[in-house]
Amino acid sequence: GKGRAWDITKVRTTCPYCGVGCQMYLHMKGDDIVGISAVEGTKANDGRLCVKGRYGYDFVRSNDRLKTPLIKENGVFREASWEEALTLILDKMNAIKKESGPDAFAGLSSARCTNEENYIFQKMMRAAIGTNNVDHCARLCHASTVAGLATTLGSGAMTNTIDEVKDSDLYFIIGSNTTETHPVIGMNVRQGLNKGAKLIVAEPREIPLAKQADLFLQIKPGTNIPLLNGMMHVIIKEDLLDKEYVNSRTEGFEELKEVVKEYTPEVVARICGIDSNDLVKAAKMYATAPTASILYAMGVTQHSSGTEGVMSVSNMALLCGNIGKYACGVNPLRGQNNVQGACDMGALPTDFPGYQKVANPDVIKKFEKAWGVSLSDKKGLTATEMFEAILEKEIRCLYIMGENPMVSDPDSNHVEHSLKECEFVVVQDIFMTETAQLADVVLPATSFAEKNGTFTNTERRVQLVNAAMKPIGDTRLDYEILIDVMKGLGYENSFTNSAEILEEIASVTPSYGGMSIDKIQEDGIQWPCLDKDHPGTPILHTEKFSRGEKAIFKPATYRPAEEQPDEEYPFIFTTGRILYHYHTRTMTGKVDGLNKLSGHSYVEMNPEDAANLGIAQGEIVEVSSRRGKVNVEAHVTDTIEKGVLFMPFHFEDGKANLLTNAALDPIAKIPELKVCAATVKKN
Ligand code: SF4
Repeated sequence: GKGRAWDITKVRTTCPYCGVGCQMYLHMKGDDIVGISAVEGTKANDGRLCVKGRYGYDFVRSNDRLKTPLIKENGVFREASWEEALTLILDKMNAIKKESGPDAFAGLSSARCTNEENYIFQKMMRAAIGTNNVDHCARLCHASTVAGLATTLGSGAMTNTIDEVKDSDLYFIIGSNTTETHPVIGMNVRQGLNKGAKLIVAEPREIPLAKQADLFLQIKPGTNIPLLNGMMHVIIKEDLLDKEYVNSRTEGFEELKEVVKEYTPEVVARICGIDSNDLVKAAKMYATAPTASILYAMGVTQHSSGTEGVMSVSNMALLCGNIGKYACGVNPLRGQNNVQGACDMGALPTDFPGYQKVANPDVIKKFEKAWGVSLSDKKGLTATEMFEAILEKEIRCLYIMGENPMVSDPDSNHVEHSLKECEFVVVQDIFMTETAQLADVVLPATSFAEKNGTFTNTERRVQLVNAAMKPIGDTRLDYEILIDVMKGLGYENSFTNSAEILEEIASVTPSYGGMSIDKIQEDGIQWPCLDKDHPGTPILHTEKFSRGEKAIFKPATYRPAEEQPDEEYPFIFTTGRILYHYHTRTMTGKVDGLNKLSGHSYVEMNPEDAANLGIAQGEIVEVSSRRGKVNVEAHVTDTIEKGVLFMPFHFEDGKANLLTNAALDPIAKIPELKVCAATVKKN
């Protein structure tokens, strides 16, 4: 009978929220998720889950799930059959291809989807359409990490493992609100602190971990580079660098020394708005700790100098010999469950799977042979450039799988305008997102609970996703839909399941060369895993660097953020995430419990600023920038400094990205989401 304990089956899978990749059991009664529990003894989370992982599953069976394909007619969606929807899509796509060629297409793949789905998506863009115009939301988060660390170390990923974090002697956390955005890694930090580790936090806001820090450097938004240069200045001056490491394992030290010479504690203290003694203290603490782990996230990457900021982080770790060793490293915390994997799978305009470059003729030849078609060697457009290209009529068709640029991207009005201007937009998603509303055709896909495949977490660990239920309604697996579209465009695949796709991935991607479903099983495998017998790689760069024998210092000078406060917009505006929600709330927004904990947007401001403007706690205020304005509740708090405003970016009401600046980092094309000029006034 129904409801008895023995009717409940437990299906092990990977959390669909953040890049920690916690292992969990879905407790299933038929097709209902009736409970969640953490898997004990695993590398990523060892029996722990955060509030999202433990309670955030109502979305799977939400009534709002898209269940049938939708076609827009005269501005309104109507339900359609798969056949009708796919016929329309293919007629349109084939016509555009014939008239304007493959580069009239652009695609956004998804950091929410599996490796297998991302692999198929970029294969569709490249092999079936013939363009490299494929990207995904990593452009908005760690594109600067991928570019920066690839340059200095040879690999744009976390150098060490999540499990090691608890064993470090010192944490230098910069631009990461770790306990809220990567809660289980935050727990590891707290475990280390309980064992006596030291903590330095460098952040514009007094985040929860700042309260536990031995040293909290409350820097002005946009001043990471001078801070790091200042610390390196002190380390060199006080002779605290690891000379042997610098000599034997790095190049470019003289140039670094020259650049950081100017960054005396006094100069840096003024730029960053901190005490010069604290800077000296931070430098000494970092340089003298036996093991020191740097954790960073969007606070480092989302700047117009983001790539240089990342390289500065890497410079400091190299200077102290902290890369390639246990419990040390440079650890970019990747946001989405599978943003690491989407990058690894080549959902990037310059890279085939495994970061094999489009610009390399040998790589083109290799993939032409593997896929049996001729391929374009023209560098594709980044996500941020696609919206421009639509307005310039270069892009006529945009295919979006599981992304919501209407909420996630900077300068939302511009994105909206561009999506409306685009001749043909296809969105494949699990919900009618703000972006899907602007599509011509919407295709209903399945959630993580209905699919098999793999996700790669922030520590490069490839882990299994196992289907716990059959697809809801008329929904279909993302890769099945894409394979049908590819077929209609004249390209046939022979895959019948995701395991077969993983086999092809392994055959063309050296760092995934030894991956297979059998091998991944329980604990997952960390790339690089070169062949069947390779055990995977927990710590990168132990003997030599991925870029070659040595790592390289790439010093950077301070460039202020593109937009600075002025008379009209006197505040520095910055954005971030909170514990209870996930990105654009496509999923967490459907979970009642999480909405009760935090249901709408707000702006944080300093009590002095509030008093000067006569603004009371909880009052609705107007926040505006050169790009737009929003009305939100004022949260008056001394965790933020005078002259700075903060808004979470999750919410559609009171949308932070109406205000943010789309100024781009010249190397990684990541937008400057962390700093713009704004103002706030009483309504
Ligand atoms: Fe999921 Fe991340 Fe929370 Fe783990 S820490 S349960 S992966 S959201």
